[in-house]
Order: sequence, then structure tokens, then C-alpha cells
Amino acid sequence: MRCHICGRKGAIFLPYLGKWLCEKHFLRMVRKRFGSNLRRFFKKGEALSLPKGKTLPEVVLRKLMEGKPFRFSRGRKVKADYLEKIANDILLSLFEGKFPKVILKDKPLYNFRYEELKFFADLLGLKYKESYVRNELVEEVVKYKPGALFSLVGWFG
Ligand SMILES: [Zn+2]
Repeated sequence: MRCHICGRKGAIFLPYLGKWLCEKHFLRMVRKRFGSNLRRFFKKGEALSLPKGKTLPEVVLRKLMEGKPFRFSRGRKVKADYLEKIANDILLSLFEGKFPKVILKDKPLYNFRYEELKFFADLLGLKYKESYVRNELVEEVVKYKPGALFSLVGWFG
């Protein structure tokens, strides 16, 4: 139950890595993962429109965007969709017999789990509205194979 990087008290368990992280290294992991998504999806100085809502993913998205090198005015729409939400959308399409069309390059939170966004927001004392999209199949899959959602989103994204 110790942080696998520094050995201090673990604060959150990441099942898909089988590892614990302390608060400091969790925050660092979030910022690093988000930063690398930004570099892949957006150009420096690009005009972006952020969602204005109060749901958890939206609040976290705006927080993580603070101080980033973009113009936050009328521009490409950035979406606050997170891992389980995208996985849910994919599964719904599949059940309807449609091939899922997933665009990841407007979703810099695509590889974050809801629980991670929540832990991040709570550590920083952000205020938000819960907005978890519950899908029993998604939850079952995650229970037995924590990394599966990343693969699912990776196949279609
Ligand atoms: Zn640590």
C-alpha cells in the first residue's frame, strides 16, 4: 500500500497498473498524462473552446487547462469525455449494430478514469457535480480486467 515511486503512504490504487501512488505522484501522473494528450491533440496557440458546465470532468478539464499555451476563445471544441463515458458510447453503438465512430483528438481526458478525475478534484478542493455514466457491462469488465477499457477505446479511437 505504498507509493511505487517514492515508498510513501499510497493514496490511490491504479488497478490497471497494479500500483499505488501517493498524492504527490498521483498529481504528477495526472498532469503528465494530460500534458502528453495535449501535445498529441492540439497545436500551441490554437484557439480552443472549453465546456462551461459544473460536472466533475468539465471542472477538472478547465483546471488542467489553466496556464496552458492556447487561446481560450471561440475555437475548436474540447470535450470532457473520460474513459468510461467513451467506452459506454462505444458499447452502445456496438449493441445497436453500428460501428462506433470515436474521435479522441478533442478529448484530452479520454484515458482518465472517472475515479481519477474525482480524486484529483478532491485533492485540489474543486467544487463539482457528479456525472458518472453508469454501465454495468463496463463495470463488470473493469472488475475482471482493469486495463480492458483502455484497449477498447484504443481500438476504436
Ligand atoms: Zn510517491
